Amino acid sequence: MNYSDSYDIAIVGGGLAGLCAAIHLGSHYKVVLIEKKPYPSHKVCGEYISNEILPYLNTLGIYPFKNGAKAISKFEMSTHTGNLIQAKLPMGGFGISRYTLDQLLFKKAQETCDTIQDTVTSIDVKDVASAKMFQIQTKTNKRYQAKYVLGAFGKRSNLDIQLKRSFITKKSHWLGVKSHYELDVPEDVVALHNFEGGYCGVSQIENGSVNVCYLTSFKSFKAVGDIGRFQKEVLSKNLHLKRVFNEGKCLWNTPLSISQVSFEEKEPVKDHIFMIGDSAGMIHPLAGNGMAMAIHSAKLISELLINKDILNEENRTTIETDYVNIWNQTFHSRLQTGRRIQRLLLSPTATKVSLKAAKLFPNIVPAIIKKTHGKVLI
Ligand SMILES: Cc1cc2nc3c(=O)[nH]c(=O)nc-3n(C[C@H](O)[C@H](O)[C@H](O)COP(=O)(O)OP(=O)(O)OC[C@H]3O[C@@H](n4cnc5c(N)ncnc54)[C@H](O)[C@@H]3O)c2cc1C
Repeated sequence: MNYSDSYDIAIVGGGLAGLCAAIHLGSHYKVVLIEKKPYPSHKVCGEYISNEILPYLNTLGIYPFKNGAKAISKFEMSTHTGNLIQAKLPMGGFGISRYTLDQLLFKKAQETCDTIQDTVTSIDVKDVASAKMFQIQTKTNKRYQAKYVLGAFGKRSNLDIQLKRSFITKKSHWLGVKSHYELDVPEDVVALHNFEGGYCGVSQIENGSVNVCYLTSFKSFKAVGDIGRFQKEVLSKNLHLKRVFNEGKCLWNTPLSISQVSFEEKEPVKDHIFMIGDSAGMIHPLAGNGMAMAIHSAKLISELLINKDILNEENRTTIETDYVNIWNQTFHSRLQTGRRIQRLLLSPTATKVSLKAAKLFPNIVPAIIKKTHGKVLI
């Protein structure tokens, strides 16, 4: 079997995690990034990013505010019936579309590594002359070799099946839907409005458009079965969402949707592949921290791979152990908190009681938000 090119590191998947790792590692090693979709593309995502990763993005040469990102410092949340609380975000964040952000990162990655548009169909590891070597095959029958592989292929991929990851066999009952709207909403607020079976984020992105993105249980959606009717009949029972859909002008012909969004536990290292971003574990979107976690995990693995001599095969086991440990220390409790909040928000009674408590003790909300976020990365 002939392999067209050989690399120190291959990164499979060019979302936020893969692109940040490609930029970070590209100036130290021979790196290839393989992404199946063209840039720029829209993605189902609330597009609110925590400020914790802003200084790190700047070190990679990415400046969201120079590209129109909106500074967001306030949070509001409403119950199914529209009761509202407001709070200051402890660290704040910014709104920028994935269309713009991923494109900025991609352009930067092209400066430091090889980038290929193709779908990876398999990743196999072999022992060659007492060192591991990965063999990567793509849909267009190209083959690449690499000493190390980063799995940055997102929440759900054909590769999870090929790698026999246990979470992939469990059915997931979540559906995500996103559109951009023309709508008058405050520039500095990210809102989370609850409805039966899910919640919907509303916040501004660059150019003043408004991101409207919701996660719903499939059960709740299936009872109606059509996105337009679902928004009118279910989401619009919340008066804040009713205003969004009545007054907002959708800027797209059809919303973007994804199904089978899974929040099951995953392994940070599987078959010697270092998983980063959603491939390693996905936090519930209500935490507004998935993108920051994806970027942060790229930083963690990049630093480990730069600080250890990866050409010495003896270091592989230590790097794997160190990554699993640091990944768990950094993210495990955030994922747990995210799961607990998700359970709470899906119960109308619990949401009502929590909102009452939050009105009486306003410091509760920033304290909970802090638990799903990390410290500023430098
Ligand atoms: C409804 C919803 C709302 C959200 N809202 C927010 C929010 O407001 N704030 C926030 O911080 N987070 C939010 N998130 C989470 C956030 O979107 C993710 O955590 C983030 O996108 C993870 O980045 P990633 O790089 O790991 O994955 P992705 O951005 O999904 O990138 C993975 C890439 O891998 C590619 N790929 C997959 N398989 C292959 C293959 N075989 N070969 C080549 N390429 C492949 C894909 O095309 C994709 O580009 C939300 C998520 C959902 C579902």
